[in-house]
Amino acid sequence: MNAAIDWRAEASRLTIRNQAFIGGKFVDAASGETFDCVSPVDGTLLVRIAAGDGRDIDLAVAAARTAFEDGRWNGQPPKARWRVLVRLAELIQKNANELALLETLDMGKPIANARNGDCRAVVECVRWYGEAIDKIYDEIAPTAKTALALITREPLGVVGAVVPWNFPLLMAAWKFAPALAAGNSVVLKPAEQSPLTALRVAELAAEAGIPPGVFNVVPGFGETAGQALGRHLDVDALAFTGSTEVGKLFLKYSGESNMKIVSLECGGKTPNIVFADAPDLDAAAKGAADGIFYNSGQVCDAASRLLVEDKIHDAFLSKVAALAKTYQPGDPLNEKTQLGAMVDAVQTKRVLDFIERGKDEGAELALGGRQVRQETGGFYIEPTIFDAVQNRMTIAREEIFGPVLSTIVFKTPEEAVKIANDSQYGLEANLWTNDLTKAHKIARALRVGTVTINTRDGGGIEVPFGGYKQSGIGRDKSLHALEKYTEMKTTWLDLS
Ligand code: NAD
Repeated sequence: MNAAIDWRAEASRLTIRNQAFIGGKFVDAASGETFDCVSPVDGTLLVRIAAGDGRDIDLAVAAARTAFEDGRWNGQPPKARWRVLVRLAELIQKNANELALLETLDMGKPIANARNGDCRAVVECVRWYGEAIDKIYDEIAPTAKTALALITREPLGVVGAVVPWNFPLLMAAWKFAPALAAGNSVVLKPAEQSPLTALRVAELAAEAGIPPGVFNVVPGFGETAGQALGRHLDVDALAFTGSTEVGKLFLKYSGESNMKIVSLECGGKTPNIVFADAPDLDAAAKGAADGIFYNSGQVCDAASRLLVEDKIHDAFLSKVAALAKTYQPGDPLNEKTQLGAMVDAVQTKRVLDFIERGKDEGAELALGGRQVRQETGGFYIEPTIFDAVQNRMTIAREEIFGPVLSTIVFKTPEEAVKIANDSQYGLEANLWTNDLTKAHKIARALRVGTVTINTRDGGGIEVPFGGYKQSGIGRDKSLHALEKYTEMKTTWLDLS
């Protein structure tokens, strides 16, 4: 990143897109209504955004359906679509500073993370699915010579995508890139807290050559625009990332409307299991601190439960606490800041309430626990560590989605697995040990979608991501994500 950038000066020069993008054009909401887009960095009003509702969703779905039926996108040769998506990745890269700035202003994450983390990952995702388009083959079934059986994958039609605010553009890209690569039309509803980058990328998609109507973005609230998309009779699939509570609503919407395919990437309560025989306890401590404080803990697979073997408890927790102190909340527009703002006042209060609950239920507050930087007008919470947590306590069971670590002690591998699996969630688990046999046995026993061993890094776009249990249904990332956006067809030809 160019160290000389004055991000505040850049912010004052920004032109922020604030209308819905439907049928290749920016338009006001049909109702004419708007909602305030407030920056959690300092509480100022950034812009008023078109408040899409059911009528705008109807228009967007109609545009998407027309575009799908006339084949302006899925009818193009794979190589042509390949070029367009790769061009979109290049345009996102070219405009990465602007997109990173929009993300930081909109949801408060540190600018260095937005630029070097989110934007890079978005470029990688869009390019990867673009490049995949002309490299995927269909199948021929093993039949007698008297028949030919083709097993082909076809695009579904209109895909709705509803996404959260913690990684606004990246979570959107995990949906729209594979859905477009598979030949679908998309209607995306970003979270009301963070609609800015989705609107800008819709414009870049048009510039890249995505035809009108193929990629639509309707900002608005969950109960109105989100629900309308979930219940729409002409939407073939709904891809959702967000809370487990709202994920369940999308299953209901589907059941009460047209049985659209629903895929869900929901919450998590990742156990980070540290054994005394970890190869490098400093690396494990850094993994523990980064795992809960990155993005202020507003991460679905945040390592929110630290399970530490009893004999290293004191020494290990001191290491994590020392690292936590380096994560002091600061100005998100300063490139050195590691811990930015919480997304809004509502989430800040929710996290502070969980901290009070932890204290009330008998956990020991070992570090932090307070709201800070109130003089800025923004929303900031200190890195917070609880010790002596029992897995039955609320702070060990519910997804806090803030910089709050719950430390739980265990004695044996069996006990660690039991605690780890004692959760409604099953998104990810991390473990640290030098014993390969123990690591593999535990990895098999854990009921989660991803296990990382001696690292927090669960890989890039080439591996699937998603959860067991109430962490979701289906997988984002990797070629497996394309399964969510295609139907399988058998064509049987009699050759006798
Ligand atoms: P949320 O569930 O409140 O909102 C997500 C989206 O759903 C938003 O666009 C919102 O407008 C919409 N929505 C809200 N209520 C709705 C309703 N009644 N009907 C239809 N749509 C509705 O989640 P959030 O607070 O934005 O994000 C945090 C959650 O996202 C956490 O639970 C986190 O774990 C989860 N998440 C999961 C993953 C993953 O890959 N598993 C990744 C990122 C975030």
